[in-house]
Amino acid sequence: MSQNRTPEDGCREDVREDAQAGADAPGSEFGFATRSIHSGYDPSANHDSASAPIYPSVAYALRSAKHADALASGEVSGFSYSRVANPTVDALEQRIAQLEGGIGAVTVGSGMAAVSFALLCAAEGGGRIISPTDLYGASVDAMDSFFPQFGVHTDFVDDINDLAEVESKIGPDTRAIFAETVANPSTEITDLKPLADLAHRHGIALIVDNTVPTPYLLRPIEFGADIVVHSTTKGISGHGNALGGVIVDAGNFDWTNGRFPHLTRKELVISDERNGVWHSFAEAFGNAAFIRRIRTKYVRTFGAVLSPFNAYLQMVGLETLPQRVRQEVATAKLIAQHLRGVDHIVRVNYSGLDDDPQHELVAQYLPQGVGTVLSFEVEGDESHVNRIVDGVKLFSYVPNIGDSRSLIVNPARITHREVPERYRLAAGVNDNLLRLSIGLENPADLIADLDQAIAGAY
Ligand SMILES: *Cc1c(COP(=O)(O)O)cnc(C)c1O
Repeated sequence: MSQNRTPEDGCREDVREDAQAGADAPGSEFGFATRSIHSGYDPSANHDSASAPIYPSVAYALRSAKHADALASGEVSGFSYSRVANPTVDALEQRIAQLEGGIGAVTVGSGMAAVSFALLCAAEGGGRIISPTDLYGASVDAMDSFFPQFGVHTDFVDDINDLAEVESKIGPDTRAIFAETVANPSTEITDLKPLADLAHRHGIALIVDNTVPTPYLLRPIEFGADIVVHSTTKGISGHGNALGGVIVDAGNFDWTNGRFPHLTRKELVISDERNGVWHSFAEAFGNAAFIRRIRTKYVRTFGAVLSPFNAYLQMVGLETLPQRVRQEVATAKLIAQHLRGVDHIVRVNYSGLDDDPQHELVAQYLPQGVGTVLSFEVEGDESHVNRIVDGVKLFSYVPNIGDSRSLIVNPARITHREVPERYRLAAGVNDNLLRLSIGLENPADLIADLDQAIAGAY
């Protein structure tokens, strides 16, 4: 950080959780569907505009030298520069924080930015992460081959629900345990509560990717997770029209326990050098140290900001999250049940089926369903998979999930292509696997399309 920092750098005003935009907006006293529509946004602060306006402005008036100084020192809150905070983006951040039950959220330009920033912010400076390998492909690739280039290493486990295996990997440099709450594409469920207890006994944070179920189906903070990330590109946007990601902080973790030196070290960016007053993130922000560092260091430095237009689309998407996901889950379950009886299908992966070995975890964590993603394995070889993806007429053959359109993909070649084979196969992603993401079409039409494509492939 340079000595001559300018207000545009957004030094203190960038790290507020008490933004003006949603100060009077409905909060946790309301139900989930109400919060999906109203939280984080106050029309009276926006010319009574009923839906949140898009603010494309890069910068905000500093008004006077006195006001600018108060903004920069954090005495007053407000916006100065959209790389660090923007009113449209701010409304979405507050809404998602309310939906997940966190103390604050920071949105970023994509889900991978959210995963990367959260893991690096926990493990920066030589820390280690413990993680299973049945994850989104780019997350495995990041931890396996890219983060080590920055001195951040991962100890992979075969089964994240095997607490003895997880505990055996905990060492002096371990900072976080990472898992997907419902894995993509196996739909394996992480048993969050005992994992959180184990992590906390050792002073380690539990970070989870909650993309597949969305906060409507599962709120991991209620079960002890410390940090929740999402690709908001998926179910939260819901229409396949806006990339985005979010990091939510539960605000319960003690970052001063000795494992996180970067959060207890004095930092100029949050200090007042002229007056000789120095702070660490933990001193300045307490249990919000992590989410403040995400904004002030990661987003401000690496610059992977969410555009205000995408934030707007995601807020529109959130308004119907409960209704969409409810409908899609009902159809996904119907399709999973149907596929079990279809010729040439050898296995259906959907932990939401009543006789699934994980049904007790489903009842505990996901009573309203495990989500809209499922996968199935077919007989034969890759040529059959290719004929199925070429044969569907209604399903879209695209590498995405959580769209209002139903989607099909062959993960081994597309979404999990960069995952080393040994991890891919352990996660069940072989050449005979197809993944579906169920949308809002009529279930009978979707079933008929799959039936004809599968029958036509043999
Ligand atoms: C898609 C996805 C990501 C990455 O999100 P992008 O928005 O595509 O960067 C991360 N985790 C999971 C579980 C995903 O499905």
